[in-house]
Amino acid sequence: MKESIIFGGDSFTWGEGLELYLNTDKWINERSRKNHHNDLIKIQDEESIKFRNSNRFAGLIEQKLGVQSFVKKNNGGGFDDGVLWINKHFKNKPTAVVLQLTALQRINFHFSRKCQCDICQNKLGNVRPIAFYIECLYKLLHKQEFTEKDKFFLNYLEEQYNIKLDLKNVDTVYELFSPIIDYNVNKLIENIKEWEKETRVYLIDSWEVHTQELTNTNEELNKRLVPLKGFDGKYYKKYAEWESTFPQLRIQNDFPKTENEHPTLLQHKYLSESIIEQLQ
Ligand SMILES: [Zn+2]
Repeated sequence: MKESIIFGGDSFTWGEGLELYLNTDKWINERSRKNHHNDLIKIQDEESIKFRNSNRFAGLIEQKLGVQSFVKKNNGGGFDDGVLWINKHFKNKPTAVVLQLTALQRINFHFSRKCQCDICQNKLGNVRPIAFYIECLYKLLHKQEFTEKDKFFLNYLEEQYNIKLDLKNVDTVYELFSPIIDYNVNKLIENIKEWEKETRVYLIDSWEVHTQELTNTNEELNKRLVPLKGFDGKYYKKYAEWESTFPQLRIQNDFPKTENEHPTLLQHKYLSESIIEQLQ
């Protein structure tokens, strides 16, 4: 069987926006308007899909090392999605797994969005607690009405975690949610240790600042981060420091009208080279 690598992550791993670098009339034209996922997904064609798949870091590694890459078909992902994806394909006995961490704002109450408990599977639907709380703070500030679902989860947060909705918490949301964050991070580390019984595991830092604080201070995560080669030739574990070495920070700096905040074509190349250095 061909060697394989499973890549977990979110839109940064999926390669959102890379097709904007295709030098054809269609895609050059698309650089002159706002182009986020919901815009781009409608205008994909065979050429753009192929270009994205082969120019995202997973695709570059696949070609360079002659391995098979497993990358989620759909764009995006919560804190659990990369893990769920890796677990789903782990039976293929991968040579390595690479997990790019997404934002803590996307954690669930009980790690997996597939949790079957009464809270996660209640009739009103589910929420991502930090994102939900920030939304509710916004509603409170703008005197908007709370839905039945909002009230259900606000009540649950208060009863279960003693977290109340209060505008004075606006700057300390992540501290307030530390019990839920800790639970999610511990589940993540449990999964990593399970994978490591059979393969090598590499983490790539999150693009999001609160999550970068976590990866910077949590030793279990930090020691597994891939040092990323910057445009200056130096190596950085912190994503924000790494990306700031490039002439263009994000796609929107190459093509301002797109307002697309994903990694550039050049950054994907450097990401792939950094991971290959670890794999070899
Ligand atoms: Zn649950």
